[in-house]
Amino acid sequence: MVLSSVLGFPRIGKNREVKKAVEAYWAGKLSADELQTAAAEVRKWNWTSIKAQGVDLIPSGEFTLYDHVLDHSAAFNAIPPRYVGLGISDLDVFFAMGRGRQTGGVDVPAAEMKKWFDSNYHYVVPELSEQTEFKLNYNKALAEYKEAKAAGVTTRPVVLGPLAFLILAKAGREATPGFKPISLLPKLLPVYKTLLKELKAEGAEWVQIDEPNLVMDVAEQYAEQYASAYAELAKDAPKIMLTTYFGRLGSNLPFVAKLPVCGLHIDLDREPGQLGDVITAIKDTSLVLSLGLVSGRNIWKTDLTAAASLGRKAVEALGADRVIAATSSSLLHTPVTLESENKLTAEQKDWFSFALQKAGEVAVLASVLSDSQDSKISQLLEENKTSISKRRAFEHNSDDAVRKRVAAITPEDLKRKNPFPTRREAQKKHLKLPKFPTTTIGSFPQTKEIRSARAQLTKGSLTEDQYNDFIKKEIDSVVKFQEDVGLDLLVHGEPERNDMVQYFGEQFQGFCFTQNGWVQSYGSRYVRPPIIVSDVSRPHPITVQWSSYAQSVTKKPMKGMLTGPVTILNWSFPRVDVSRETQSKQLALALRDEVCDLEKAGIHAIQVDEPAIREGLPLRRVDWDNYLTWAVDSFRLATSGVEDSTQTHSHFCYSDFNDIFPSIQRLDADVISIEASKSDLKVLNAFQQFGYKNEIGPGVYDIHSPRVPSEQEIKDRIKSMLNLLPADLLFVNPDCGLKTRGWAETEASLKNLVAAARWARTEF
Ligand code: GLN
Ligand code: ZN
Repeated sequence: MVLSSVLGFPRIGKNREVKKAVEAYWAGKLSADELQTAAAEVRKWNWTSIKAQGVDLIPSGEFTLYDHVLDHSAAFNAIPPRYVGLGISDLDVFFAMGRGRQTGGVDVPAAEMKKWFDSNYHYVVPELSEQTEFKLNYNKALAEYKEAKAAGVTTRPVVLGPLAFLILAKAGREATPGFKPISLLPKLLPVYKTLLKELKAEGAEWVQIDEPNLVMDVAEQYAEQYASAYAELAKDAPKIMLTTYFGRLGSNLPFVAKLPVCGLHIDLDREPGQLGDVITAIKDTSLVLSLGLVSGRNIWKTDLTAAASLGRKAVEALGADRVIAATSSSLLHTPVTLESENKLTAEQKDWFSFALQKAGEVAVLASVLSDSQDSKISQLLEENKTSISKRRAFEHNSDDAVRKRVAAITPEDLKRKNPFPTRREAQKKHLKLPKFPTTTIGSFPQTKEIRSARAQLTKGSLTEDQYNDFIKKEIDSVVKFQEDVGLDLLVHGEPERNDMVQYFGEQFQGFCFTQNGWVQSYGSRYVRPPIIVSDVSRPHPITVQWSSYAQSVTKKPMKGMLTGPVTILNWSFPRVDVSRETQSKQLALALRDEVCDLEKAGIHAIQVDEPAIREGLPLRRVDWDNYLTWAVDSFRLATSGVEDSTQTHSHFCYSDFNDIFPSIQRLDADVISIEASKSDLKVLNAFQQFGYKNEIGPGVYDIHSPRVPSEQEIKDRIKSMLNLLPADLLFVNPDCGLKTRGWAETEASLKNLVAAARWARTEF
């Protein structure tokens, strides 16, 4: 019989219970016990709900109060020395690593966070050194396995694999130069052995071990370590389901197929084409093949007929007992349940499956693949066929104007009228910015008042006019503030935006929105990604009224502020019936109109943020060029419609450009701002080496912390930047937008920034 499985479930709770409990705990309003009780209730709801959907292999152990990678660091005692001996509880050490801690005489910053593969989830990077003494502080997989069992649910525990843990880790500050986390594998394996042995002793039949790096080029160099590690682990463990996701095994398949495990999970949502090769590679073994047929990354209802026909290939080749129908990855990237949506139309609701509905889908698929004669199953399959055909019909409703426009894009559309040096002269005359111009990245503090005005507008207790007046007043004061502080290139402050992607999605044609479709981004921060459902266009100007109002109340130049096409695409749930490239170009054309309208309205500096370009990089290097070509083309398409005298800006929330530098250059933005305050400025080497010619503002202070940088610090920062970049290319700005900061620290920091820039003007 084909079994069904879910690889992981959202850990936020149906009504964001976990966020509420965790934040209440941080605020001292909930005890540790109460927090654990709230978490246990969510886990129980998850297990019993998945079981009620008819799923055979139900995950446990992947739940977390913050981040599942951080759970492993804490459980394995991989705790950097700066978090040890603080005199706080283990739970507080865990949170201190995740988010920093600044109370009761303890002052430690958070550990570094990174994007989880190509998703918008962030994990806390493990920090290791030769001094790391792994031990099993507690066996979370075992505890939750038992907890589920007590709740009447037999689960398949999930752990992050030892190779993944080490590959995702970085060398801590205590490590000697050249230290590689992977060198700790022999020291880490005993911990895993204990963990697995305890699971087995408790009766766990299977364990899911995630090794997502196996879909990347990097895995190849560790082929021997994978082999020796799994040979060691398999000795005394439950049956191991080696789990990969987000890509194809590709060149790693030959060695992966030989690993001494009992099952292999592959992602067929992302890479359906790999099925044939994988079947061939494992046919003569006894490996169970788990087929990731239901997307863990998107929210569209699965076409069960199509998925079943893919699954049948595996059943025919391997036999039903060697096949599992599964989600492609953990469902943590999808909202909990469609049942919470009341505002979607019945037609729209019928297009989607959220986590709980996806659990139902794998169960139905397994029955179909097991040739179930159950009439309920055939009925569900028929219903699914009807839904899918309705959606296909909807997908045929293309917006021909948009499609024609995309088809008609010419190379000329991707080019500014003149090269940068010519544009620069025109911009100098027009904008009259001083040397070392000061600016900010866009947003100013989003106060309670702003959020409450927006909520009142939604509720209807503020009229549109009243709300607009409120926003205008907010703009007045942000502009006045910037003039008082002495900044050169002003912004309107983005008070009208709930979120840099959602705001644009709401104004464009082609998107739809959920009420409760929350997805964890990191820790207790959840986002509600918009859904792209049809061709995208801009029915009316969006930001023009705000930026031109802001320009009307100051003589200083005002910078318009937009989110770029690639970022909007990457932070939304995309369509699956047309390519990402097409969606990105549609977005780019819509934004191009906005850029041109801003220019017409007298805005001569326009920033188009693309913080997500880098995280959207495909996991395999061979796929990079194709992606970067359309991603950069999209940005150019959005920004190239303006005159030479209009200065285009872009912004990136990271500083690691070495491997994509030519693409950054090809964006041809007149000015880019990047995050740089936390790096040692090595990042600027690339700009120096490649002879970057356009203007650039490496952030001079960190906006993620309330700390105020001193004037001297900023001066020192500028001085060291000047060792690497010519003075006449340098902008002076913070690392990123200021929306999460308070006004007091913003004022103090920006005053110091302006003073430091003024000093630089006289000095260099
Ligand atoms: N303009 C945006 C802001 O200042 C940029 C945010 C971002 O890069 N994530 O908030
Ligand atoms: Zn940023």
